[in-house]
This record gives sequence, structure tokens and C-alpha cells, in this order.
Amino acid sequence: MPPKNSGTAICPGSYDPVTYGHLDIITRTARVFEQVVVGVVNQPVRKGKTLFSAEDRCSFIEDAVQELPNVQVKPFDTLVVDFAREHGAKAIVKGLRAISDFEYELEMNQLNRKMAPDIESIYLMAAPEYSFLSSSGVRELAMFGGDLNDLVPPAVAERLQEALKR
Ligand code: ADP
Repeated sequence: MPPKNSGTAICPGSYDPVTYGHLDIITRTARVFEQVVVGVVNQPVRKGKTLFSAEDRCSFIEDAVQELPNVQVKPFDTLVVDFAREHGAKAIVKGLRAISDFEYELEMNQLNRKMAPDIESIYLMAAPEYSFLSSSGVRELAMFGGDLNDLVPPAVAERLQEALKR
């Protein structure tokens, strides 16, 4: 194994619920940074009320990252840059899917840079197989009884089906 970069990275998101696309970004970040803290936004401002509680969203991720010893999962209620500082992180790592992610991320990047020029934001391109995968898409699919096997871990699929099946 090549030596890992030092330091801590934050992977923030609402993770409502976590998908294989998120887990791909978390796994890739864990290969590059010594420590990764997955920050689960308690109450997202932009997306309104979540389907799952922060506790459930954290435990879905914890179950899925058991094999990654350098990944921790924590809920947070503050600005992402404050959460990053609290953990001594030097980077915020995010996944980029399509153009729509880019526009939003560019705006967030300018705001975060202004507040915390010492914390770098790093973007990983979504894996092609997960480029069109989103938590909202998965919730919608679950509502209509769609097959979630290739999209989320089995325990998450089960909880989604329970919560949303019409
Ligand atoms: P979503 O847009 O699915 O609700 P979140 O707000 O939880 O996602 O996003 C957390 C981070 O994960 C963001 O950086 C987002 O761009 C990234 N992400 C979400 N889905 C994917 C995916 N399928 N592939 C790569 N990155 C993703």
C-alpha cells in the first residue's frame, strides 16, 4: 500500500438515506486521508424535513463502513466549516455528479472559502455507475416498489420499503 496522505477529511451530506454512490465517495476518501469524518446534517436547510432521523441516517452509514477503520460518522448542526475545524480537518470532500451538482457546489465553495480559506474543498467525480443515483431518487423508487438492490445496502432497502411502500 502506498503511504496515505496525512490529516483528516470531512464528507458532509444529508444521507437520507446513504446510497452506494455516497459509500463510493467515502471509501475513496478513506484511501487518501488518514482519518475521515462523515458529517450527517441533522436538519438540512435546503432539503426540508428528512425521511429518516439523524440517528438512523448515522447508523445506516456506520453499518456500511464497518470494514473501514479510519472512518467515523457524526451528526452535526453547525456550518460545515465549523464542523471541519472542530475535527481539525484540512479538507472537505464532496462527490460531483452532473452539472446541477457543479452549480450548487461552486456557490458553496465560494462561501466556505470566504469563511475558512485554510480548509480546502476537494471534489471526486462520481463513478459512472452511480452518476444518476441520489437519495431522493431512491426514496421515490421505494415508494413505487422499485428494485433497490444495486442502489443501497440491503438493510437500508428494507427500512425504505417499510417506510415508503404504498
Ligand atoms: P443527495 O444529493 O443524494 O441527497 P447528499 O446531500 O447526502 O446527497 O450529498 C452528500 C454528498 O454526496 C454530496 O457531495 C453529493 O454530491 C454526494 N453524492 C450524492 N450522491 C452521489 C453519487 N451517486 N455519487 C457521488 N457522489 C454523490
